[in-house]
Amino acid sequence: MRKMLIAGNWKMNFTPSNAVGFVNSIKSNIDTAKRDVVLCVPYVALQPVKDALKGTNIQVGAQNVHYMDDGAYTGEISPAMLNEMKVPYVIIGHSERREKFGESDTTVNLRALRALKHGLSPIICVGESQKQRLANRTEDVLRKQVAFALDEVKDERAEKVVIAYEPIWAIGTGMTATTKQAEDACAFIRILLIERFGAPTAEKIRILYGGSVTPTNAAELFSQPNIDGGLVGGASTAPTFDQVVKAGLCCE
Ligand code: PEP
Repeated sequence: MRKMLIAGNWKMNFTPSNAVGFVNSIKSNIDTAKRDVVLCVPYVALQPVKDALKGTNIQVGAQNVHYMDDGAYTGEISPAMLNEMKVPYVIIGHSERREKFGESDTTVNLRALRALKHGLSPIICVGESQKQRLANRTEDVLRKQVAFALDEVKDERAEKVVIAYEPIWAIGTGMTATTKQAEDACAFIRILLIERFGAPTAEKIRILYGGSVTPTNAAELFSQPNIDGGLVGGASTAPTFDQVVKAGLCCE
């Protein structure tokens, strides 16, 4: 049985002090029983938020990581740095990074491999554009992105991988995928994982849905057999985030 994972993606929101104020205001309402809850916060808020969450089971994650351990990469953060800070999760290949910062399938793979080497769980984002969906290319896109992202990932590290299916047209638009669209895509990703790692391992890998998840639609989405939680943007910065987290128990 896979444990539900609800991951918030704060993107570039909240100053460190605002971040602490926000988590202090929501943390007692967040139910972490039988599910993992992670807040992926800006780098500068990682330590303050981690400190504010002491005594809870809410974890922190980063929103990106570089693919080298150290060196002349001005402005970058390495997996070794995150590992030392005991940051267990990192988002990799978010469509905003692919679109606005030139992230490619190749660098997504390099980042995932390096994150895994340092014991981090990469939350690897994949998903099609609206144009690709309308052209019936969703499965082709997912097949390519998943294959690239998982290239050379060792079987024994695969269980740490999380895949987030995030149709680009649904991110921050209020246009949530229908439950069927989301489950069909996640079920297809499960098949890809079975082809890649074999069923016993693939059945342990969590697949999240992301794209305009709200307290209203979360329970139905999370109740699908191949949706093991959500990557939640806007709704994770709202005082009602606890309601999205609560929906993560629907499949027990
Ligand atoms: C995201 O940032 O990954 C995301 C899914 O955003 P939103 O929930 O706001 O659509």
